[in-house]
Amino acid sequence: MLIVVEPELTIRLADELLMFLPATRRASVSRVACDGTSTLGHLVESLGVPLPEAGPMTVGGEPADPSMRPATGADVRVEAVPRPQPVPLEPGQDAPRFVLDVHLGTLARRMRLLGLDTAYHNDMDDPALVVQANEEGRVLLTQDRGLLRRRALWFGAYVRGSRPDDQLRDVLDRFAPVLRPWTRCTACNGELVPVDKQEIEDHLEAGTRRSYDVYGRCANCGQLYWRGAHGGHLERIVEDATRLLQSVQEGPR
Ligand SMILES: [Zn+2]
Repeated sequence: MLIVVEPELTIRLADELLMFLPATRRASVSRVACDGTSTLGHLVESLGVPLPEAGPMTVGGEPADPSMRPATGADVRVEAVPRPQPVPLEPGQDAPRFVLDVHLGTLARRMRLLGLDTAYHNDMDDPALVVQANEEGRVLLTQDRGLLRRRALWFGAYVRGSRPDDQLRDVLDRFAPVLRPWTRCTACNGELVPVDKQEIEDHLEAGTRRSYDVYGRCANCGQLYWRGAHGGHLERIVEDATRLLQSVQEGPR
């Protein structure tokens, strides 16, 4: 009788990556078939982990590139992406730009409230999202693992959490971006320009005129923005985000 022992190798995943494995195979150590031709990146993705979510990798304790081809019996380790995760920026740019997939509309509005350059359209298909991310140097944020597997995508990230609060916290914790609250239109992502309250007073209802100060008009769509004297829902989002970023920057956590 002939017993065929399939060549295998071992992949150990950081705890943060186990969520990408199917529930029935959610173990930190996986044994996978090794054909000698598959790249490290391919093997990690075959477990379910999108490559943009895989951090530093080692084979036998040595740093390894996703394009290398591990041999039978290799001991592979995969870390989570470092937090905060650096994003290549252009000269003069001090925070990453983002593009969000169609399911993340609430998160998009909150990111704009914080002044982050956030593209979002509720009718963009996957190829169009990848094109916009690449052409405009935007980090693609999504909860669609298939989208993150697209080879052409220059920079993507999986957003953790089902509630917008948790999603925003995850994005801020991951990228620790510089915030400029109240400088962007939450409807269209345009930049706000200061306006004189007297200039637009006629457009405001009496109650609004008494209790709020206008602080900006969208240079793109013309929408007016004003703030109340007392903290509302949006003020709280800005306060929470500012506090979270302070703790991220002070690290280590
Ligand atoms: Zn606007």
